[in-house]
Amino acid sequence: MIRQCVHDALDRIQSSFPRIEDLETLLGLCDPDEIRYLHATSSSVRNDFCQERVALRALIEISSFCHNSCLYCGLNRYNRKASRYTMTEEELLQCVESAVKQGIRTVVLQSGEDGTATESISQIIALIKRTFPIAVTLSLGERSYDDYHAWKLAGADRYLLRIESTDEILYRNLHTDRTLSSRLDCLEHLRTLGYQVGSGIMVGVPGQSITTIAHDIQFFCEKQFDMIGIGPFIPHPQTPLAESPPGDLLLTLNTIAVTRIATKYPWMPATTALGSLNRDYRIEGLKAGANVIMPNFTSHHYKAQYAIYPNKQSKTESRKRLEQLATRVGLSIDYGRCDSLLPG
Ligand code: SAH
Repeated sequence: MIRQCVHDALDRIQSSFPRIEDLETLLGLCDPDEIRYLHATSSSVRNDFCQERVALRALIEISSFCHNSCLYCGLNRYNRKASRYTMTEEELLQCVESAVKQGIRTVVLQSGEDGTATESISQIIALIKRTFPIAVTLSLGERSYDDYHAWKLAGADRYLLRIESTDEILYRNLHTDRTLSSRLDCLEHLRTLGYQVGSGIMVGVPGQSITTIAHDIQFFCEKQFDMIGIGPFIPHPQTPLAESPPGDLLLTLNTIAVTRIATKYPWMPATTALGSLNRDYRIEGLKAGANVIMPNFTSHHYKAQYAIYPNKQSKTESRKRLEQLATRVGLSIDYGRCDSLLPG
């Protein structure tokens, strides 16, 4: 039995800018029938607006150095136990090559905020773009307009920068040396420069509530991101949030589903964090409306060192295994670049 208020909230968030009350109603669903209905609705919205397919993005973690101190992240500069590395250009190129050999057409270069010289990143981007016919996505944190500009000119196509939270106080509590307004500026700069832009949040960070998530989803609707990543918070033992509970699985899946229904077009990963809980829940992420898988192509001797949270799943996955993941939920892998689906 699905309550009328659930039908009504779903109708309204599909047809107009979502109201906070409707988002809260849907995020908070816990009756199994209503959850199934929510997830079935979001799967059908995904299939209608994005087709029945899953995109692959090869994640390459290029450096674990970071001068930031985000309270949730194992790479924060106060974690003396974190091991730090930066890949050489040659190592990085090998990772890209193995992704391309597997038929993947997008690489995501991610790192801590390590202050790498703008020019060396530009060179790497240009080298990748010269060598392989693929899209390059960056996930290197906050940098200046000029840096983002230089990387765009070098050939970068996309940039991922999660907002983490649109609530100013929560944002400040999680990032002692960062402000929400500088993050918003970065996202504006990326958009102005013509990047396909991705954002997102973790679910379950201390201080977050269903209401703050509802506001984050309104923000996603307002900004119309090309990509949105949503995953559970996983406490890291060498951070100030070590004792906090992990993000709730069900709330994470509901957040993916409600975001899909409200925003329709974005590429949304079944995140690595979803695959790193007590078991791999990426299938459930796809069933809730996600449509991207990000297999890890970091060289095996660095994988364990890029520990933003513990037990991060980063094992190598064959093409067959990835195809099975997609087929289990009735989707097929799209081996194209899978550029933005936003109209206009
Ligand atoms: N330095 C880059 C990349 C950070 S890692 C940046 O700041 O954008 C990418 C994402 O991992 C972060 O945006 C954050 O949302 C997520 N993350 C970090 N620590 C996490 C944790 N403990 N649990 C779950 N996700 C985490």
